[in-house]
Amino acid sequence: MMLIDSHAHLEMSEFKSDLEIVIQRAKKSGVEYIFSVGTEKKDWKRTLEIAHSHPSVYAILGVHPHNAKEIDDETYPVLKELCQDEKVKAYGEIGLDFFRNLSPRDMQLMRFREQIGLAKELGLPIVVHDRDAHQETLEILKSEKAEECGGIIHCFSGDYEMAKVCIDMGFYISIPGSITFKNAEGLREVVKRIPLESLLVETDAPFLTPEPFRGKRNEPAYVRYTAQKVAEIKKVSFEKMAEVTTENALRVYRLKSG
Ligand SMILES: [Zn+2]
Ligand SMILES: [Zn+2]
Repeated sequence: MMLIDSHAHLEMSEFKSDLEIVIQRAKKSGVEYIFSVGTEKKDWKRTLEIAHSHPSVYAILGVHPHNAKEIDDETYPVLKELCQDEKVKAYGEIGLDFFRNLSPRDMQLMRFREQIGLAKELGLPIVVHDRDAHQETLEILKSEKAEECGGIIHCFSGDYEMAKVCIDMGFYISIPGSITFKNAEGLREVVKRIPLESLLVETDAPFLTPEPFRGKRNEPAYVRYTAQKVAEIKKVSFEKMAEVTTENALRVYRLKSG
């Protein structure tokens, strides 16, 4: 049995004191690969370092919508260079966060568009962050022809119609630990209708810790609780769910052809 955590943030300070143990614990829980996302300039090198010192860790680099306002003339050239690294398997996370609005909205929109272009140039799939901006996210994915790079809508929180449009554009839908929460009935209804072939599971660790550990720090080993819940919703065995989401992740991150 093999699982993949399609999205975590291993460089974050929450893992500073026990990162090696966290990565080992993931291994022991069947998590074969962890895709670790460096979301801003200060995190990129560290993310790459972690990926290079652990065969089970790959890197994703980009500028998060929270940090859109920090992009300057040097940002894209630096990213272009770093993304040549063989351990980098996707570009992101990029997108829109109209919940926290840590960068002005018009700037988020502009940087999202630009970074889809950059990902295409680099030949990488994109990892999309969308919080409270479903309509605008869809509009940009369409107008920027994001089907040319494809990728993942991470921490998916839209409705089935949105999922369907994204899937038709060649995107995968990644489900976080919040699917285990009592109040996530809406998301569970959506997941019921998403084909298995388009689903991924993620932790977004250290955030969004699934039950039964809600409230504590999240870590990649816990992706199994999310996979278990999704299996339950899809009425398939845990083994089947682990197998399919692993296949899907290997395909989108191009660790396997076909
Ligand atoms: Zn995100
Ligand atoms: Zn994230």
